[in-house]
Amino acid sequence: MAKSNVDLICSVAELSGLFEKGTGLQSFLQKVVSVIAWHMKAAVCSVFMFDEDKQELVLTANQGLNPSAIGNLRMKLGEGIVGNALLELRPIIEGMSRNNPHFKYIPGIGEENFQAFLAVPILRGMIRVGVLAVQDPEPSYFDDNDAKALRAIASQLAGTIENAKLLMNLHGREEHATPQQEALPLDTKYLHGISGSTGIATGGSIIFDNILLDVTTETTLPAITMDDFNKALDLTEEQLNSFQKDMEERLADVASLIFSAHLLILRDAQFSGAMLKLIEQGTHPAIATSKVVEDFCRLFVDSNNTRLQEKVHDVRDLGSRILRNLLDKQNSMQDCNGGIIIAESLLPSDLVRMSAQKIGGIVLTSGGATAHLSILARSLALPMVIIHDKRLLKLPMNTPLIIDAEQGSLLIRPDAEVTKSFETLKEVKRRSLEIEDTMQPETQTSDGTAVKLLANVNLLSDLEVVHRLKAEGIGLYRTEFPFIVRNDFPSEEEQYRVYRKMLEGMPGREVVFRTLDVGGDKMLSYFQTGAEANPFLGLRAIRLSLRYRNIFAPQIRALLRAGAGCGLRIMFPMISSVDDLIEARNYVKECIAQLKDENVPHNNDPLLGVMIELPAAVELIEELAYEVDFMSIGSNDLVQYILAVDRTNEQIADLYMPHHPAVLRSLKRIADAALKFRKHLSICGDIAACKTMLPFLLGIGIRKISVDIRRLPQVQQIISSIDITQARAKAMSMLQCSRISEIQAIIDPDSSINPSKPI
Ligand code: PEP
Ligand code: MG
Repeated sequence: MAKSNVDLICSVAELSGLFEKGTGLQSFLQKVVSVIAWHMKAAVCSVFMFDEDKQELVLTANQGLNPSAIGNLRMKLGEGIVGNALLELRPIIEGMSRNNPHFKYIPGIGEENFQAFLAVPILRGMIRVGVLAVQDPEPSYFDDNDAKALRAIASQLAGTIENAKLLMNLHGREEHATPQQEALPLDTKYLHGISGSTGIATGGSIIFDNILLDVTTETTLPAITMDDFNKALDLTEEQLNSFQKDMEERLADVASLIFSAHLLILRDAQFSGAMLKLIEQGTHPAIATSKVVEDFCRLFVDSNNTRLQEKVHDVRDLGSRILRNLLDKQNSMQDCNGGIIIAESLLPSDLVRMSAQKIGGIVLTSGGATAHLSILARSLALPMVIIHDKRLLKLPMNTPLIIDAEQGSLLIRPDAEVTKSFETLKEVKRRSLEIEDTMQPETQTSDGTAVKLLANVNLLSDLEVVHRLKAEGIGLYRTEFPFIVRNDFPSEEEQYRVYRKMLEGMPGREVVFRTLDVGGDKMLSYFQTGAEANPFLGLRAIRLSLRYRNIFAPQIRALLRAGAGCGLRIMFPMISSVDDLIEARNYVKECIAQLKDENVPHNNDPLLGVMIELPAAVELIEELAYEVDFMSIGSNDLVQYILAVDRTNEQIADLYMPHHPAVLRSLKRIADAALKFRKHLSICGDIAACKTMLPFLLGIGIRKISVDIRRLPQVQQIISSIDITQARAKAMSMLQCSRISEIQAIIDPDSSINPSKPI
């Protein structure tokens, strides 16, 4: 029988199918190994999970060896072929396994007859998750194509397997008492905070940490049979799968297995199995559910593993869903039903999940309007405010609330009159979105000078607005968003699909893909590079990509593949020297050569550009302009780094001054260098949407403006009211000033220049 690796790789549906039909972690992994063995026609297939504490690999699922080896066969990191594949983070193919110096014979597991060996590490970024291995009696049975196939599968499965691993590690831990939380009264009607996104939401409160229904206080619980309980579990599973499908259609780039932790926990024998056991012993099914959920949460909270701690929310959310289905509390397909989530903090993946569950808005009680959560909330059209008042977490569930994310405020138990006026406001906002449809496809100043108006986007779902507003192109696609939102690194294949969709959605129009810009305030929960005292000055953006080639390579390869047959623009963030640029450019060339060797269709001549967002880049602007195809000014960072003012620190927001003379002169130097070397220059930071800064930007010669999509109509209007001759004169007089106060007087003595409120 011929191997069918291609079928195996292509058949993501099959893997999800395994996942859907699974009944527990063990059975899920067991099915994974049998599907791989079947498609590869291999006699043996194994999944080993890596136990970080003990630094050893444990055989967790297997087909073809003695079943008693499962759970008992352990190898140290670096021990045997399997241990070496994980140590060296590379696949190992052996025609005759005994010839490999690392081969280790293990008596009693029945591997005497197997000659060919292929072991592939399962990694999430740099995190060691485990090893996938196949063996066969036929010598040299596995080749490079098999290794590629297994690598693709390993990367698809990494997130799920890691979740499984975390759960397995958890079982058997000691239980600890939950620390008592202080209860605080709340007696206020109005709270003001920071605006995290836009929009207005009205709805009942859902306290994120107490999302579980408190059934222990119910005096009369309905009679529920074991059969009802099993039906509730089935319904829960059905709902989760349906959410997953819905997300995959709406938010293909971020939705990958977003409910995977829920599904895995649901089928964990120690979760639903423990509930069943309690019910058999006579506990009411609702109480049994509630008890097991709380036990699980305690284990998660007490674990030292931050990633496990993050899963508490998943467990509570899952428990709540089971209870609702069990008690028939409401039609659970829309169980958040416009409610307003109050949480101390949220992960980006929580936000995406909640959006699928139809929440109305979000109140956070800690943190600042950190760029990624706010940007994501905007892309998901979720009103969000940040109010530093922990008493909010003590609000009774379903307390009527209104979020006014435009103003950054929250109204608690509003009276009928107030609620009515906000409903009207919501309607007005909805209509103003319709007015946006009047946007013109081309932008000109009042004297007819053409300005290219482009959009900044973060998610594929933004394309809909880009089209609605007829943007001329995408001046900045922040590719880190699909990375930030997910629970694991997207594979090359997944990235390729996202980038291809982005390009297909913009035929003939420019799309600038900025390579991964994580670090600073945009952290990946699943990839920790070590604590940094100053993350904004740390391992961020291109520095991280150049340091971790196994993260950079899949992205560049995916971009090049997506750009096959069309124009492709790749931009590097945080470039600090010509050397950085050359290193990144050489890497792109290496990836092009690889794809050529592999005969994979790709773009072999992408335009390469840089973000100008560091003072060092301004100093080297002429040399950089000479080397690149295009440049874009990242003014959010440029202002931060020139003035040494943290862009996320609210306490010093008044010192964040885009109109500071040092910033203005830097902008002018960049514009002059672009002109001198005839290179395209755009600006994509928030000041590009700032009414008071736009005349200056046009005045120094910038003709490409890229702004948050939702600001396009207003920015178009502002540009159309600017006269270029006047703008030039204004810019020149601003450049002659050495004091901030003088510049302020020229711009507009009464206006405040706050790029976080650009219009
Ligand atoms: C900028 O720095 O201006 C920019 C556009 O990039 P980001 O806001 O994503 O850092
Ligand atoms: Mg930046």
